[in-house]
Amino acid sequence: MARGGFFILASFPSLLNKMINASLKQLADQLAAKKISSVELTKLYLDQIATHNPVYNAYLSVNAKVSLAQAAAADERIASGNGLPLTGIPIAQKDIFCAKGWRTTCGSKMLADFIAPYDAHVIEQFNRAGAVNLGKTNMDEFAMGSSNETSYFGPVRNPWNQKAVPGGSSGGAASAVAARLCAAATGTDTGGSIRQPASLCGITGIKPTYGTVSRYGMIAFASSLDQAGPMAKSAEDCALMLNVMTGFDERDSTSLQREKEDYTRDLTKPLAGLRIGLPKEFFAEGLSSDVGARIQEAIAEYRKLGASIVGISLPNTKLAVPVYYVLAPAEASSNLSRYDGVRYGHRADEYTDLADMYEKSRSQGFGEEVKRRIMIGTYVLSHGYYDAYYLQAQKIRRLIAQDFTDAFKQCDVIMGPTSPSTAFNLGEKGDDPVQMYLSDIYTIAVNLAGLPGMSIPCGFGDACANNTAMPVGLQIIGNYFDEARMLNVAHQYQLATDWHTRRPQGF
Ligand code: GLN
Repeated sequence: MARGGFFILASFPSLLNKMINASLKQLADQLAAKKISSVELTKLYLDQIATHNPVYNAYLSVNAKVSLAQAAAADERIASGNGLPLTGIPIAQKDIFCAKGWRTTCGSKMLADFIAPYDAHVIEQFNRAGAVNLGKTNMDEFAMGSSNETSYFGPVRNPWNQKAVPGGSSGGAASAVAARLCAAATGTDTGGSIRQPASLCGITGIKPTYGTVSRYGMIAFASSLDQAGPMAKSAEDCALMLNVMTGFDERDSTSLQREKEDYTRDLTKPLAGLRIGLPKEFFAEGLSSDVGARIQEAIAEYRKLGASIVGISLPNTKLAVPVYYVLAPAEASSNLSRYDGVRYGHRADEYTDLADMYEKSRSQGFGEEVKRRIMIGTYVLSHGYYDAYYLQAQKIRRLIAQDFTDAFKQCDVIMGPTSPSTAFNLGEKGDDPVQMYLSDIYTIAVNLAGLPGMSIPCGFGDACANNTAMPVGLQIIGNYFDEARMLNVAHQYQLATDWHTRRPQGF
C-alpha cells in the first residue's frame, strides 16, 4: 500500500473491518506480505480509539508519537527480514504495567502524575518482540474491583451495551478488545481480573500458572496471587501473546525458571479422550439460569468433540471468597504502604507535620475501595487477630489447592461458568461490596491455588433490562503448567463454534 495508505484504508470501510477483526496471525501475514504497514495499522487503531474512546473510556493514555515511532521501527525490522510473530502489531497495555516514559496510574489518583522511569518485564518482552504499545488501558484502582467502577478516571463501558459494566479489574483491556480498539491486550488477574472481564465482554483471556509471567514492574496488589496474562479475540491469539509474555526473570523472586514454551504447539490436537471435570459446587445456588444453560450447551459441544464428562467436587469452594478477602487485603495493606507522598504518589498540598502529611496524602490519594482493603488488611494482620484470621486463611488456602490436586487425578481440565451472571449495569452493585465480591466466586480459588484459568465466549444470556443479550464465558481451569492443553481445548471449541467471532453492534 502506498504511503499515507491509512487514509485510503479508512475510506474503505470493508477493508478497515477486515483489519480490525483479523487474527494476530492474519495481521502478521498482512504485514509480512506488505499489504499493510505497521504505521498504517497503528494509525488505524489510533483513529478507532479517537472515535470510540470518549464513550468507552477504555484507554487512560495514548501517545501517538511514541506508538508510531515503534511502528516505523517495526516496519524496518519486518523489511529486513527479522520480524517475529508480533512485530508491528498494536497491543494495549493495562495501566498496571510500568512503561518507560508513559504515565502509569494503576487507575488511582495516587499515581495520576506518575511517569514510569523503567519498563516492566512484560513491556520489555513486547518491546523485544517488536510489538507496538498502543496505549494504557483503564482499570479498577490498584486492580481492586470487578466492574472497573473504582477507577479514579471513571468507569469503562461495555461495548455490548453502554449501560453495562465491562467487568474488572482489567475492564479497559476487555472493552478495548471487544470494541476492536487494539489487536490484543494485556491484563492481570489476582482473583479473576482477566477471566471475569473477558467473560462479560465476550472475549478470550488466560491467567497462566502463578510464576509464569514476571511481576517485575507490574504494580503490586496481592503479590502471592497477582499474575499477568493476555486478553484477545481467540485462544490462538492468546497463545501467541503468551509466547511473548512468559519467561524467567531474576528480578521477580517468584518467577519460575522453566524452559520457554511454544503455547501454540498443541492447538490442533483433536480432543478425543479429553476428560472434563464439572465441579458440582460451580452449578449450585447463585448461578443465573441463563449462564448455567449456556455452560451446559458448551459442555454438550465438547462431548461432540470427543470429550468425556466426570462429576467432581471442590468441597472448599464456598470458602474461597472469604479466604481471599482476608489474604488479598493483608498483602495489599503491606504493598500499598509505600504510597506515602514521599517516595511515591500524591502529596497533599497542605499539612502541619509529617504524620499529617501522610494522613492527608493517603486519604486524598486512595479511593474508597482501596481504603476499605487497607483497613481490612491491617486489621487481619494486627496482633491478636493474626492467628484467628490471617493464619487460618492461609491454612484454608492450602486445602483449596488440595481440592484441585485431588480433582486433577480424575480429569484433565475443569470447566464451569466464569461469572455467576452476565454483565450487570453500571451503579448496580456499587453500594454493596459483598455482592461485588461474589462476582468472582468461580475464579478466586484458581488464584489461591496458583493454577492457570481461562475464559472463552460460549453464547449469550437472556436479554437484560437494556434489551441486549450479553456474552457468557466458559471457564477452563487446567493443572499447573498445562496452558498449552487449555489453549488447545479452547481452540478446538473455537474451530467448532463461532461465539468468539461475534462482536458488538457497530464494531
Ligand atoms: N475482583 C477481585 C478483587 O476485587 C479480583 C481483582 C483482580 O483479580 N485484580 O479483588
